[in-house]
Amino acid sequence: MGVKVVKFGGSSLADANQFKKVAAIIKSDDKRRYVVPSAPGKRFSEDIKVTDMLYKCAEQAGSGIDFSETFGMIKDRYNGIISELGIDMSLDDEFDSIESELKSRPAKDFAASRGEYLNGKVLASYLGFEFVDAADVIIFDTKGMLLLEETVKAVREKLSGLPNAVIPGFYGRTTEGYVKTFSRGGSDVTGSIIANAVKAEIYENWTDVSGFLVTDPRIVEDPDVISLITYRELRELSYMGATVLHEEAIFPVRSAGIPINIKNTNKPEDKGTMIVSDDYDFSTEASYTITGIAGRKGFSTINIEKAMMNSETGFGMKVLKALSDNGISFEHMPSGIDTMSITVDSAKLEPVREKVLAQIRRDVNPDHLEIEDGIALLAIVGRRMKNTRGTVARIFAALAHARINVKMIDQGSSELNVIIGVSEHDLNEAIRRIYDMFINSEKQ
Ligand code: ASP
Repeated sequence: MGVKVVKFGGSSLADANQFKKVAAIIKSDDKRRYVVPSAPGKRFSEDIKVTDMLYKCAEQAGSGIDFSETFGMIKDRYNGIISELGIDMSLDDEFDSIESELKSRPAKDFAASRGEYLNGKVLASYLGFEFVDAADVIIFDTKGMLLLEETVKAVREKLSGLPNAVIPGFYGRTTEGYVKTFSRGGSDVTGSIIANAVKAEIYENWTDVSGFLVTDPRIVEDPDVISLITYRELRELSYMGATVLHEEAIFPVRSAGIPINIKNTNKPEDKGTMIVSDDYDFSTEASYTITGIAGRKGFSTINIEKAMMNSETGFGMKVLKALSDNGISFEHMPSGIDTMSITVDSAKLEPVREKVLAQIRRDVNPDHLEIEDGIALLAIVGRRMKNTRGTVARIFAALAHARINVKMIDQGSSELNVIIGVSEHDLNEAIRRIYDMFINSEKQ
């Protein structure tokens, strides 16, 4: 029988009622054997996440301030969950040892990790599953880099023979024995590693949304959910700011060919988004021409003109050197015969703006050089664009009808995405028009 690794985010485990939903989901499928919980998240918008309270404890302890009030709030969260669920357990000994550890050595990572650790204890007891401490199986080197091979070996050894287990997310330990966490939201990464180690048939990532949306709901009202997306498409969209999953959670499952299913704990019947490998067989899948639209503001373009630029060997290299000498990476660089325009992050350019301009002037002596600020980039992503004629024509028709001026176009050779530069004030309308052109019109 195949195995499913299931990770539940903080909002899915924020209170006893959420715990009950989680238990019902797990118990409804025997394959859901290995469970990775986050720490209790927000119950309502002004609520404070347990992880944030723990960071505060470490900060207070580090400055010699009494942290018992903050720690008391954390104890209340767990005790409330335990008593409402009616579980016969006490975390008092755990609380005492965490408190005294924080007094003697107020390490930030150790403090933060206790949110997942304690939640894992509660969930394991509620489900009747074995508790496996992530510090025993998730291993980092002394610099804090994950040691994937050692980790996979340790996970396999620990879980072999266990019919089911709860492994807290977010942390592990270094080879020197110190607790170390991933960056924020890192329980996603733990789930992905466990899925890789047990060769799961699927990694289910349970959260409070029914998957990735085609575009930002603050711009388009109630956008469709993306039912199927490839890892590469997801990477393009996340780079442009669409987030649901921790970036580092992709690699361990992708390399093992394991799909991820983003699911909603509050609406388990929704199919959610399935993230699959690039060679997945899509032939029976009916879906839109494009997969997603994302946009980001805050870019500038450096426009350079010089007659005969095309035949001047090393021109591009000198321009790019002016950027790299000043610590700037570039996003896009479309070029013409005598022109070149380079899109960069405005905030990064700002402090070195004059230096970059001076170096370009000195090294390539352009006929014209200017910086245009206030640029937004729009990414239209979709694996089907490659085999569908007229996609780009439809994008531009949608923008032309809205009288939106296109400042830059870039289509990668993979034909997986089209990047368009527009004025920041045109971005939202551009997204709405493209959504209309591809999603609303194809729906009818
Ligand atoms: N609890 C941690 C955080 O708030 C990790 C996680 O939830 O994935 O960032």
